Amino acid sequence: MSKDRWTEILEYLADAAKIVNLDPDAHRRLQQPTRVLEVSIPVRMDDGSLEVFTGWRVHHDTTRGPGKGGIRFHPEVDQREVTALAAEMTFKTAVMNLPFGGAKGGVRCDPTVLSLGELERLTRRYTWEIMPLLGPDKDVPAPDVNTDGRVMAWLMDTVSMAQGKAITSSVTGKPLSIGGTAEHAGGTAAGVLMCTRDIFEELGIAVAGRRAVIQGFGKVGRPLAFLLHSAGMRVVGITDVHGGVSNPGGLDVPALSDYANQHHTVAGFPGGEPLDTADVFAVECELAVPAALEGAIDAEVARRCNAQVIVEAANGPITTEADAVLHDRGIVVVPDILANAGGVTSSYFEWAQNRQGIAWVDGVAAERLHHTMHDAFSRVYASSQTHKLSLRRAAYAIAVERVGEAMSVRGLFP
Ligand code: NAD
Repeated sequence: MSKDRWTEILEYLADAAKIVNLDPDAHRRLQQPTRVLEVSIPVRMDDGSLEVFTGWRVHHDTTRGPGKGGIRFHPEVDQREVTALAAEMTFKTAVMNLPFGGAKGGVRCDPTVLSLGELERLTRRYTWEIMPLLGPDKDVPAPDVNTDGRVMAWLMDTVSMAQGKAITSSVTGKPLSIGGTAEHAGGTAAGVLMCTRDIFEELGIAVAGRRAVIQGFGKVGRPLAFLLHSAGMRVVGITDVHGGVSNPGGLDVPALSDYANQHHTVAGFPGGEPLDTADVFAVECELAVPAALEGAIDAEVARRCNAQVIVEAANGPITTEADAVLHDRGIVVVPDILANAGGVTSSYFEWAQNRQGIAWVDGVAAERLHHTMHDAFSRVYASSQTHKLSLRRAAYAIAVERVGEAMSVRGLFP
């Protein structure tokens, strides 16, 4: 049986703890989430019946600041997955040196079969039930798989109504009209492109004209396809949950996006050949970007992978076995906690502006994102070279050391 994501995170933590000689007490504390809230969410359905959904909000560690992490609506989400994702946020915010801890939320549901009204009632009741954990200084949610700005607006409104005032800094990834930022939407994709440029430069690969494949055409995969296309790369394969399309000459990304708007999938796009979802990583390319769900690249997929570099836009897309296979095959992996951190970094900027009550002038957030991503990449890359570690092990080591240091200076309460 394959390991679940939480087990994998504990392995990465143990490895990093050894590398940085982490205080065993800090290690023990990080092996368990600080708090897990499981809630039942009764929702009146449009046909008058009642459905009771289950949801979670997990704080893995909040030593370095308020919990930060997205909310996922998915039929297979469970407590261990949410806990693993929360822990990844602890390490992601630490490797980026953002003043946050790690949190994540999830509701076990299939949002594709819910009406808009049902989705709103589900979101509001879930928000109400996890309210004791929320607040700008305690825990700040954001979008994740199957949630978006609209869902964040309902969350923000529910928290605000309960408190009797508009609390814009309670949530990030909001619409512009309630304190969201233009940069947030593409922040994750922009960070993936920045990491791609940095790693290509280190490896002596030019960006222009090189081939890329992307798994997932959602909030991350779609803007990323545009960015890679604009950067002069040939996007030669894209898949989503329904299927995919390939074109060795490069897909026409704007046309593909229009097609996906109409058909709700990239499958069947006439500007290329059909590509099976399972085969996207077998396409020959310089860059492969998993931007869908965890576990997409297992050992078997890793053996067939035909990329030189993988930049992890998704959280946890490569299993630990696959990571070892890729390492042996010399395929370089830029790990999720660094590669997709453009999203949480943009969230940090949104939260900071909401709290300051002032919108930064145009260009400031984009420039700071670039600086923050580049700085984090450089530290991780330098450490990997100095200590002969993979980028993932180096990133975890930096993150775990920072969290350990914070625990050490704060001490143990009471
Ligand atoms: P999304 O729901 O907007 O899109 C998910 C995409 O993946 C869709 O195109 C869907 O069709 C596709 N997909 C799902 N299952 C698939 C499968 N089996 N094969 C191929 N494609 C499949 O989600 P998103 O917000 O784009 O998030 C994608 C990943 O990026 C997740 O792992 C998420 O945790 C991570 N992430 C997202 C953000 C963000 O800002 N949204 C930030 C950091 C990390």
